[in-house]
Amino acid sequence: MNPKKILRTIESYLNLKPIKMPKIEEDPKYLRGIGTAAVIQDETGLTIKIKDKSKLERLDEEFTHIVDIVSGTPTRILEYDCPVKYRNRFYDNVLIEALGYYGSKIVTPRRTPIRIKHEGLKESIERKEWKKLKDFYQGDLDLDRRTWHEIGYDLGEKIYRYIQKTGNKEPILSLLIKNRGGKKPFEVYKKILKQVTK
Ligand SMILES: [Zn+2]
Repeated sequence: MNPKKILRTIESYLNLKPIKMPKIEEDPKYLRGIGTAAVIQDETGLTIKIKDKSKLERLDEEFTHIVDIVSGTPTRILEYDCPVKYRNRFYDNVLIEALGYYGSKIVTPRRTPIRIKHEGLKESIERKEWKKLKDFYQGDLDLDRRTWHEIGYDLGEKIYRYIQKTGNKEPILSLLIKNRGGKKPFEVYKKILKQVTK
């Protein structure tokens, strides 16, 4: 599938307005240690960085992120200094990755999630154990980013299976896209998880 077709497939499946094709740049140096593709936003707009332009398979996830951003993703919560805000920021990212993964499954159904390696970290975030969290992060500042990907992909897989089984996609997608139904990211995460694991 060519990039345009991947983008249009995702937009129409998620029932969102078509967007302008973002720039796609091959940049293995930027992506070292991050992954195969990523979205960056600067004054020139949105760009997808990709490790290898001949391998387009992870464009599906990045296009979903862009469609999510353009159609009005919630305000990013950036504070790290307070457990409650931190938890919401963390779960905002979990939801973004869950949708990204879900979008990628539409184009690439054979994709499988990565194993969650840091259940302890997840529990500490949910319980707002701030001191314990700081211990977790010692010497590994990238741990939270990796963990919200793991949890988000896992949720995305559960959502995919639930929607395949029930055909009931609207209520969950409307929580994942746009304003999250006015609820905080952690509440939305719990609500969706409950729904899809019932
Ligand atoms: Zn992603």
